[in-house]
Amino acid sequence: MKNILLLGATGSIGDSVLSVIKQNSDSLNLYGIAAGKNTEKAAAIIKNFSPKNIFIEDIAAYDLISSSFPNQNILNSDQELLDLISDNKVDIVVSAIVGFAGLKASLMAVNAGKIVLIANKESIVAAGDILMPLAKAKGAQIIPIDSEHNAIFQCLPADKSTTDVSKIIITASGGPFLDIPLSKLNNISPKDALKHPNWEMGSKISIDSATLVNKCLELIEARYLFDLNEKLFDLVIHPQSIIHSIVTYIDGSSISQMSNPNMEVPIANALSDIRKVPIAFKELDFSNLKLSFQEFPSDRSKLENLAREICNTGGSSGLVFNAANEIAVESFLNNQLKFSQIYDVIYRTFDLIPLSNPQDIETLNELNNEARIEAKKVIKSIT
Ligand code: NDP
Ligand code: MG
Repeated sequence: MKNILLLGATGSIGDSVLSVIKQNSDSLNLYGIAAGKNTEKAAAIIKNFSPKNIFIEDIAAYDLISSSFPNQNILNSDQELLDLISDNKVDIVVSAIVGFAGLKASLMAVNAGKIVLIANKESIVAAGDILMPLAKAKGAQIIPIDSEHNAIFQCLPADKSTTDVSKIIITASGGPFLDIPLSKLNNISPKDALKHPNWEMGSKISIDSATLVNKCLELIEARYLFDLNEKLFDLVIHPQSIIHSIVTYIDGSSISQMSNPNMEVPIANALSDIRKVPIAFKELDFSNLKLSFQEFPSDRSKLENLAREICNTGGSSGLVFNAANEIAVESFLNNQLKFSQIYDVIYRTFDLIPLSNPQDIETLNELNNEARIEAKKVIKSIT
């Protein structure tokens, strides 16, 4: 039996992980969860899965869950979160809190030398220079569950060596506005931007997919996860979301991983060891499969170039990019910013903040706060 600690249990990735655990209750046990403030969903998970440990970040939500479940171990402080993550009984930590908020727990899990299944791409983008060397030093195993990165992981040889890789193609669905030029996206509403054609996801990543910022975050994520130069990665639009990424080797072979778009597939893969973890899934109908590919839109090349620059610069550059985007997405979802202005907030904030090389979580938090304040000022100045 493997004990799983699921951080971000009340979210969309949380749902998929819980479904995989439910289908494999003879080998996977939900040992603990962490959530933000969704008490209704947290309560339902506690009733259905009886996890031993429950961490709730929001204090009002914590009080409510504590009084509803007086016999359960309900936690709230940073020390309690650290103790839970470091608990010897925890075999696997799933890092699926959204945004920079997930970094604290990702760092704790890596520092504790755990097997860390990482969905929280923002923590890699914001702190890859700290997170990846720390994983090496502490013997933590980072396994990606972001579908593209999990696909690359599956297409690499068993020892995960990248020596013979000549190219990696990261596929992108293109989101809900595929083939619509950026110049026509000025007055898009949050409701339209949230309607992803292939995936059902949390609101933040849905907007990131609509702007294609998600693919740029994923480029930076891939550069850190696989420790390769950005020049080796191509971004290619593949509207059907069937091929999740492709690895080309120096002998001319290209290996891809395919499935219908369903996050349970990469999650089950990341949870498997010698044997695969079985799940119910919709088979691909190969006799009727039509796959197409097209170039990453040229009107988003400024964004892609910035992500490539960040891959090469490292330090705090990913943190600033991520913080500006998080604030811009939040403002867009609150109807305070136009869709197309999300890009302006990213570019302007990035230009305003001097880059540095943070070495610890305190400095990362300070820089993140600074970048968020600057992004808010930018929004004020352009709206
Ligand atoms: P959701 O918005 O659906 O869920 C976010 C989760 O994070 C919720 O459980 C939320 O808790 C929790 N959370 C937010 N803030 C805090 C906090 N300060 N402390 C503790 N918990 C917190 O997001 P998704 O599931 O869509 O995405 C999660 C991560 O996975 C993101 O980084 C995303 O980029 C990545 N990802 C998601 C994919 C998807 O298909 N959804 C695909 C690939 C990657 P609560 O709701 O209780 O407040
Ligand atoms: Mg992805």
